Amino acid sequence: MVWRLRRLSRIRKGLREALRFPLGLFWRFTVLLAMLVAATAAPAAPDDGFQRWLETLRAEALAHGIRASTFDAAFAGVVPIPRVVELDRRQPEFTQTFWSYLDKRVTPSRIARGQEMLARHRDVLDAVSRRYGVQPRFLVAFWGLETNYGGNTGSYSLVAALATLAYDTRRSDFFREQLLAALELMDQGDVPIDATSSWAGALGHPQFMPTSYRAYAVDFDGDGRRDLWNSVADVFASAANFLAAAGWRDDQTWGREVRLPSGFDYAQSGLEVVKPLAEWQRLGVRKAGGGDLPAVDIEGSVIVPGGAAGGAAFIVYSNFKSIMAWNRSILYAVAVGHLSDRLIGKPPLQASRPAAEVPLARGEVMEMQDLLSRLGLDAGEADGIVGPATRKAVRAFQAEAALPSDGYPTAALLDRLRAAASP
Ligand code: CA
Repeated sequence: MVWRLRRLSRIRKGLREALRFPLGLFWRFTVLLAMLVAATAAPAAPDDGFQRWLETLRAEALAHGIRASTFDAAFAGVVPIPRVVELDRRQPEFTQTFWSYLDKRVTPSRIARGQEMLARHRDVLDAVSRRYGVQPRFLVAFWGLETNYGGNTGSYSLVAALATLAYDTRRSDFFREQLLAALELMDQGDVPIDATSSWAGALGHPQFMPTSYRAYAVDFDGDGRRDLWNSVADVFASAANFLAAAGWRDDQTWGREVRLPSGFDYAQSGLEVVKPLAEWQRLGVRKAGGGDLPAVDIEGSVIVPGGAAGGAAFIVYSNFKSIMAWNRSILYAVAVGHLSDRLIGKPPLQASRPAAEVPLARGEVMEMQDLLSRLGLDAGEADGIVGPATRKAVRAFQAEAALPSDGYPTAALLDRLRAAASP
């Protein structure tokens, strides 16, 4: 869009300049026409830098054993996509809040559709499950969250999107590797030359990046091609193969919602704290309905992804970490787990919601990070993103201020910080 607007403004500028010269009407018209033709019909100005970069990439790809014919076919007419760079530079305006994240992803229609998929693909899901040791409901939950059961696999040209990000300087090494992996997959016939992807190059129903595709995709239907667009057997087996490699255990679930005792020490929450279930039981943690935790010899962590005042608490087991190997977001991992529960008829979350969830603006998070650092608590770079360093600093401040130390930044906490930091 920006690119179009620039082009339009160029036409307008040209028009003004053409009218300023004291030329005859015929010449004015001719100049104007030539400019319009040049502006609307010509391709984007050739970018010498990109062409030179492509030549070095071509040499590297060929040295990797990719056929010249594959490379040349894949790059025919490819130019960088300005919109992809824009999306890569985009910063979220607000922090994500637990309930709104979950409400958007685990919707009634997604649950109903997932149940239908679980029934429709029962046989192949069972076969994949036996082979890789991942319960069918989890495979369907990932599928539903990634692409709404294959409905939204991305419409960017894979080669152009990855070439844009590999040519761009922000994360060029990562995307160059992805681009070379994509070319290899094309050369081997797994991925079509004209494949489409998300703007960041994620592929097919499970949205694998090319290096994951190369490492984990499986030809489960045996047609000779690892096809993550048209074969649900390949899609399920590939996802299961990834999860198995990430340590999945099919004798366990992902975790469960729990009820915390009043006076619970939130310093004990978070994935870093791992205890046997019997120990959590002793500390007063119960199933959401109030019953005892299962008397099994496994370990887990208590997490409060919406903060102490956010209502919901969970105990999560080792499979939760396997989900996070797929996507490092705790909210994503809870969404996968909860959707997988709903697919087999388990109830909605029982925690009561807070009256309002107030997301923090990026600027507020930056202010918070700045205040924490001024108080001598290292919150990392003041980048407006709530990462591990920021949570740790928030916890330290909460502990000092005798607040529940959940590491969760809120508007109320920002007020406390402002007061604490003012002279
Ligand atoms: Ca196949």
